Amino acid sequence: MPVAQDPRRVAMISVHTSPLEQPGTGDAGGMNVYVAETARELAARGVEVDIFTRRTSSETPVEAELVPGVRVRHVTAGPYEGLAKEDLPGQLCAFSAGIMQAGLSVPEDHYDLVHSHYWLSGQVGWLAADRWRVALVHTMHTMARVKNRHLATGDAPEPRGREIGEVQVVEAADRLIANTDDEARELIELYDAPPSTVSVVPPGVDLSTFTPGDRGAARRELGLPPDGEVLLFVGRIQPLKAPDVLLRVAGELLVRDPALRARLTVAVVGGPSGSGLSRPHELEELARTLGIEDVVRFVRPVDRARLAQWYRAADLVLVPSHSESFGLVAVEAQACGTPVVAARVGGLPTAVGDAGVLVDGHATADWATAVDGLLRDAPRRLELGAAAVAHAARFGWGATTDRLLTVYRQAMRERASGTAEPSVDEPLALAGVPTAVIP
Ligand code: UDP
Repeated sequence: MPVAQDPRRVAMISVHTSPLEQPGTGDAGGMNVYVAETARELAARGVEVDIFTRRTSSETPVEAELVPGVRVRHVTAGPYEGLAKEDLPGQLCAFSAGIMQAGLSVPEDHYDLVHSHYWLSGQVGWLAADRWRVALVHTMHTMARVKNRHLATGDAPEPRGREIGEVQVVEAADRLIANTDDEARELIELYDAPPSTVSVVPPGVDLSTFTPGDRGAARRELGLPPDGEVLLFVGRIQPLKAPDVLLRVAGELLVRDPALRARLTVAVVGGPSGSGLSRPHELEELARTLGIEDVVRFVRPVDRARLAQWYRAADLVLVPSHSESFGLVAVEAQACGTPVVAARVGGLPTAVGDAGVLVDGHATADWATAVDGLLRDAPRRLELGAAAVAHAARFGWGATTDRLLTVYRQAMRERASGTAEPSVDEPLALAGVPTAVIP
């Protein structure tokens, strides 16, 4: 049962992507997982959640139940198919109107709080929270001004319209959720967010699905050789995620040690996304150019249980992103006991902790040296794998949701009293996870 000051019903807004979609391709990624997992956890605590998302197919029902207590409500805004994320700013009015109509069918005080995800949803949440006279809690997930500082070659800068929209959402939100201290600092320094409105809530990992397991069994299930080295990339395939680094590393390792070719498997699990959609075969072409197509496997996005098998089967998971607000893949891999080699950017140092290896920059030689060193050092991999499991255990979605509820309660109290409270400062029982809100 919810405690007295908990919200009874929360309206979550996720305009551009539905929690029902398979993550790992197109616009579906960590945000879908975040929305679905926190909604489930809220429902388990007795808080009803309606998730509003855009209808993208005539087959999609108007409403679907994710789990008891969590409804996904599909709002018609523009043509179902063929709209890119970049087209959606033109549909925000239609989407907002759809939400207002949905709101008409329920009592005026139906929702106690709006939680919007990504700036497009923040624009809609701003209006919805205002009309329903409730607090708006917003999570950015990614920010244009941060992305534009870390652009990968081939990625177009985020448009100014997005930046302006984000600034408006920062001003309109009662509370902003940052994944890490770094993200909190970016909100304050790059978006002028009042520090007292920013709360740090680390995302989570499904610790019942992502568990250590039998590597041999995982490799058998996936048709991988029982011996030999397996390097893995998981995620949406676009320049920002830098899957090319994995291929270039493999090419470099094979130059350094041609005998490795008989033992090496490089797997890329995920589908094209963002600017990668216009060049869906770029990675295959790169593999051919590097002369490594015989060792590379491209795998379409898989469900969570199968993904756990991929993590277990791998010797190392590479997360070479140019920009990453957190990096769920890194924590999931670690929860399965597989060491991670990650770029030292954004939230990845928090996600990886001391249990993996962080690489500065994206130079192939640096990455190849880090990977090579670990591949040749089985005891170190074992040691890191054990540390990885312990580190990931700090990131359950239950802890994330408890922390979110603290922020929700605070936002509701502030609305009711009309006075701002100091930042959420309850210490998280997650030693080592930075949670302090920047003063
Ligand atoms: N994912 C998945 N199946 C796949 C590939 C990825 O379920 O085949 C999920 C992955 O488990 C992770 C999410 O997609 O939870 C990606 O989140 P991350 O934070 O790493 O990146 P984002 O997509 O948010 O940029």
